[in-house]
Amino acid sequence: MGEKLLIAGNWKMHKTPQQTVEFFQEFNPKVEGIDEVEILICPPFIDIPAAVEATQGTNIKIGAQNCFYEKEGAFTGEISPIMLRAAGCQYVILGHSERRHIFGEKDEVINKKVISALEEGLRVILCVGETLQERESGLTFTVVESQLKLGLSGVEDKLDQIDIAYEPVWAIGTGVAAKPEDAQEVHAFIYSVLNKLNPEKASKVRVLYGGSVKPNNAEQLLSQPDIKGVLVGGASLKPETFAEIVKIGQRLSNK
Ligand code: PEP
Repeated sequence: MGEKLLIAGNWKMHKTPQQTVEFFQEFNPKVEGIDEVEILICPPFIDIPAAVEATQGTNIKIGAQNCFYEKEGAFTGEISPIMLRAAGCQYVILGHSERRHIFGEKDEVINKKVISALEEGLRVILCVGETLQERESGLTFTVVESQLKLGLSGVEDKLDQIDIAYEPVWAIGTGVAAKPEDAQEVHAFIYSVLNKLNPEKASKVRVLYGGSVKPNNAEQLLSQPDIKGVLVGGASLKPETFAEIVKIGQRLSNK
């Protein structure tokens, strides 16, 4: 784990179970035999059983977009990491900017989720990233460093089970991706922070870029030395488009 590029799709609140089955009917043959990159799809909770069944025996992994930190109990509307594992998930995305900004999740809660998910054996993709206002105020590094340190507090020894997604909020769903060299600068900074947290395991973390990744910009982004994968929202909804991004990753891995 850790050395292959991770090409991950975040479906957000899109697709029914039936549409999930249809997606994989088209997608699976397009990525058959691709083994130089890790392929992950994170559908809505309700679609997870259909996604796990539709990807049995393939090279495609399934993850969730969120979870709660308690294992079970009176938490109406929540899903625990134990449930995700039992349903066949291998990954969970935590701290996505939509969770932070629409649902008010704070670093302390995200950290509890990270700890709990790791305890149950899920790999965690922790999302960090600055808003446009923070970038324009020169706060990008300060914000990203703080989100990393707070989000990873207490699990610094488990960095080999964690990937980070750098997702500048101004680039998510806007069609305006970060310039590859700007993303690279932040990715290098993220590795420097991880290195301070755990010098032995920092290099095992894949730092993914997310924010308007499409087939026409994936190659340039993935060619940057510290971009070890991508987290793709909108462009992961179509089998054709997401498969193209997977194939770009595969091609770059073979160089
Ligand atoms: C995301 O949801 O994590 C994301 C990066 O979305 P998009 O690719 O649509 O910008």
